[in-house]
Amino acid sequence: VAVPVDEYQLTGYAKAGIHETMLSDRPRMRAYRTAIAANVRDKVVLDVGAGTGILSLWAARAGARHVVAIEYHEPLAAKIRETARRNGLATKITVLSGLVERAELPVHLAGQKVDVIVSEWIGYALLYEAMLDSVIAARDRWLAPDGLMLPGRARLHVVGAADPLNHKNKREFWEDIYGFDMTAYRPWTFREAAIAVSLPENILTTASTVADLDMRNVTVGELEFGAPIELAFERDGTVDVLTFFFDVSFEGGTVLTTAPEAPATHWQQTHFYLRTPFAGRAGDVMRGRVIWAKGQTRKREVALTVSLLRPGGKTSTDHFAIEF
Ligand code: SAH
Repeated sequence: VAVPVDEYQLTGYAKAGIHETMLSDRPRMRAYRTAIAANVRDKVVLDVGAGTGILSLWAARAGARHVVAIEYHEPLAAKIRETARRNGLATKITVLSGLVERAELPVHLAGQKVDVIVSEWIGYALLYEAMLDSVIAARDRWLAPDGLMLPGRARLHVVGAADPLNHKNKREFWEDIYGFDMTAYRPWTFREAAIAVSLPENILTTASTVADLDMRNVTVGELEFGAPIELAFERDGTVDVLTFFFDVSFEGGTVLTTAPEAPATHWQQTHFYLRTPFAGRAGDVMRGRVIWAKGQTRKREVALTVSLLRPGGKTSTDHFAIEF
């Protein structure tokens, strides 16, 4: 099984702050708690990338037969063991440390399959971090043929929005840096993703869904894709930015969404500013295509190409990246 080429990125998780952020994200927590409570009774559950162990604790509390928590960082794994003990769940949860790609199930489950795989693998714009690759690897090794993935479906969407002030700032920032013309750096500004909360009143168009992934059978290859987009102006305006958001859904109907109009999550929304904004009237349609790929050197990063058919028939192409 392939091992992540850039294990380095996992180092970010060996700190309290990121876990505090995730544990404080109420839409995230509510969705996972509800979905786990509804789906794990009497099941053998595998928690991929257990972090602080919250999903495993919920699964054990909800009556799972047994829970296997796999976490890359040994110090986190040790704390999951301690936490299970402190909460009377030590016999219900087996904690393994290391990469899920290299893990083996504990002896009492050796050679068996699991009934449920739960994981919070979600990154910015759904796929940044490419942790879903690791969950797919776990699924292909251990999920029973009639087993359940939590979440079971994930969709990535894009919408056009007005944001003239930030667009102007991006254009003009490098023009005068203490008297120097630094516009050589300007292309970077437009290339880089911005993570921020959308103002719903800035949304101008309908949304297009660029990926719709079924966790039961999605392959790693399908996490790089091309997709058409068709964004219909709902009123007159100028699209300065393409805003990506996602939703994931769970067996039983629970949905976790980062749509601009929904309560904010720690993923916020992911924004890409068009070098040339796109003006339209209500009813006009922005047509184009996105190509979503992993970073060339670091597969956890995202390289995005957006082509748009411009009024007059020319096509414009922008290259974007999510890399932190
Ligand atoms: N499940 C927790 C943590 C989610 S963050 C929660 O919902 O709060 C993702 C966690 O997965 C991090 O702690 C990271 O160290 C771990 N992780 C990511 N990729 C992994 C891999 N390939 N093998 C094992 N652990 C991994």
